[in-house]
Amino acid sequence: MSAPSRQIAVAGAGIAGLAAALSFARRGFSVRIFERAGRLEEVGAGIQLSANATRILARLGLLEAVEQTAVKPRSVELRRAGSGRVIASVPLGEAATRRWGAPYLTVHRADLHNVLAGAALAHPAIALETGASVRGATFGPGGVSLTVEREGATGTVACDLAVGADGVRSALRGTGSLARPERFSGYVAWRATAAPHACGDLVPADRVSAFLHPRFHLVAYPLRRGEIVNLVAIGCMPAPSGSMAGDAGAGAARGMLPPAVISGATDEIDALAAGLDTWLPWPINEVDADAPWVEPAGLALIGDAAHAMGPYAAQGAVMAIEDAAALAAAVAARPHDLAGALRGYEATRRERVRQVARRGAFNRLVWHASGPVALGRDAVLALRRPESLAADLDWLYGYDAEAV
Ligand SMILES: Cc1cc2nc3c(=O)[nH]c(=O)nc-3n(C[C@H](O)[C@H](O)[C@H](O)COP(=O)(O)OP(=O)(O)OC[C@H]3O[C@@H](n4cnc5c(N)ncnc54)[C@H](O)[C@@H]3O)c2cc1C
Repeated sequence: MSAPSRQIAVAGAGIAGLAAALSFARRGFSVRIFERAGRLEEVGAGIQLSANATRILARLGLLEAVEQTAVKPRSVELRRAGSGRVIASVPLGEAATRRWGAPYLTVHRADLHNVLAGAALAHPAIALETGASVRGATFGPGGVSLTVEREGATGTVACDLAVGADGVRSALRGTGSLARPERFSGYVAWRATAAPHACGDLVPADRVSAFLHPRFHLVAYPLRRGEIVNLVAIGCMPAPSGSMAGDAGAGAARGMLPPAVISGATDEIDALAAGLDTWLPWPINEVDADAPWVEPAGLALIGDAAHAMGPYAAQGAVMAIEDAAALAAAVAARPHDLAGALRGYEATRRERVRQVARRGAFNRLVWHASGPVALGRDAVLALRRPESLAADLDWLYGYDAEAV
């Protein structure tokens, strides 16, 4: 791949696809993005962005714009959902910026998406097409041929590298040796937003609160400079009908939270949940992260398309941003060895994503512990200083995906 003809095609204009387009453009590549939806918009509400993502947004020149609407929470507090008792607190705020070199933020997904999309649309090296579904890719000596469907008509687009950022139901993951389906994890996230006054003292406006229970956990945090509170209740249950895999949230109606989801919570939590009629079920789907992510002839999967994971470490979008930056860095570093660059990307990222997925599995286990195990958890956490709990996260939040 010689420098002047380096044409990148990205399937999907979600967080992964936009971050990839901007990362490649920053390194001198020209990029075309194909987005299936007729217009750019994000569903869902809050997202936590740790320093391993915000340092990348800073390099893209976008951190200031994201911070305009974001909140910088002062801590993450773990509490018992059955009593409200605080079990542990991990310091964030300025301490996080000092410790990990970039801020820890909570942000509305639509706000983050707007900033990324605005930057992509304004970039002279990026062309973005909506209403364009990528159906697959073939590979030949001249490069990659992407099949793109627009208004029922199918055409092809030539490029040097195709990036599959088309989410958990990726069409490009169905290409050749990469083919494998996503699967329902058995867990459903119920998401809602509330006005701060509706949360009373239960959810302090300056922190992330995680209420733990053997059957569920509820995470609450402020968004949009504290104007709204994001709520996510996650429990093990059958997926609600009409909202299955991949199109999470899109096929389901908003409504009341079924009381069984948070049974065992304090009256205060029950009252908050029952006072909202905008809960949206979001089945959590996963993609086997051990399967291949690259076709060395010119295809790389990133974000949920490669390794959709449960939200137990709040790292899905963060990993998508890391993937995007790491892929662009790997390809730029080996201008005449695309296959080597893609294999390097896959090897490095797989190790990292596995580690993060293990942390998520650990969180799920510990957060949903019951009986003596939960008592042991609380006792151990009570002995830890807040700074030592933060130090446990150095490997995760202190990581620089472009330096590896
Ligand atoms: C309850 C919950 C809470 C979460 N909280 C956090 C958090 O706090 N922090 C965090 O980092 N992550 C979090 N996540 C995970 C995060 O939301 C996802 O990992 C992330 O949004 C994935 O981004 P993506 O761009 O890879 O995929 P998507 O957001 O799914 O984007 C894919 C894009 O591709 C388009 N597309 C699909 N098919 C095609 C096609 N064939 N052709 C063209 N375009 C196509 C879609 O329209 C879409 O625009 C959470 C997830 C859940 C469910």
